[in-house]
Amino acid sequence: MIVEMIETKISESLKNTIGQMKNGQMQKQNCMVYKCPVCRDTGIELYIADDGHEYARNCKCGLWQRERMNRMLSFADIPEAFAGLRLDSFDTSIYDMANSRKIADMNMQIANYWLDDFEKMKDRGMGLYMYSAVKGSGKTRFAVSLANEVIERYAVGVKFATSVQILNEIKASWNSDSQMTEHRLLDELTEVDALVIDDFGIEVPKDWSMERFYQIVNSRYIHKKITIYTSNSALEDLLYDDRITNRIEENTYQLRFPSESVRKLLRERHQVELVKMMKGGVA
Ligand SMILES: [Zn+2]
Repeated sequence: MIVEMIETKISESLKNTIGQMKNGQMQKQNCMVYKCPVCRDTGIELYIADDGHEYARNCKCGLWQRERMNRMLSFADIPEAFAGLRLDSFDTSIYDMANSRKIADMNMQIANYWLDDFEKMKDRGMGLYMYSAVKGSGKTRFAVSLANEVIERYAVGVKFATSVQILNEIKASWNSDSQMTEHRLLDELTEVDALVIDDFGIEVPKDWSMERFYQIVNSRYIHKKITIYTSNSALEDLLYDDRITNRIEENTYQLRFPSESVRKLLRERHQVELVKMMKGGVA
């Protein structure tokens, strides 16, 4: 009899405990859905003011800053594969040749200096021109890492595009069905605080493309806007005319990249890792 009673009591209290746990979990789950129930993680709080109208304001939780950052990152059009890159994720030991590592370390120092002093660089409109004759030498990764850092640390608007993309968009804007006029497109490219032009000079310049790039480069020069270039050509070897290259020279620091492909080295490193893992799995 006594044993039964105890059992009943235990099971009753256990039921209670389980019930409480379930409730707790549900409450927790509800909380988990939104970090901030006030704005439901949008960062924008809607409220009714004294005049009876509904208004929106930045929520006190501060999530709007993260939201703004997300919007800035999506505006930047940085390719998905490069989304998480930061300067410190750039491993200069990846280069095979000692001289390449030396060059890469030097570039890293300059880039860090440029980044730490970004406000000053921005006032002067000083960007970077990164070049190497070798494809896959890490220039684009490096440029994108800098762009991500600039967005995060300085909340500066950035746009990323290859020069071929820019020219294609300009050509597409000539189509009468296009939503975007050439004028507006060029405005966007000249007004953004920091513009990354990837693979500059890979295209064979024509009169019209020369003219458009001059417009972009010159206007960014006049308004002291930062431009980061990557190119397979040194500035003096570009097929663009002096009006363009002089402007670039005047408002960029030039970084020569190693004549060594990290793409190949990364591939080999992955291969070695895979073989190691496979061997580890067998053993
Ligand atoms: Zn909030």
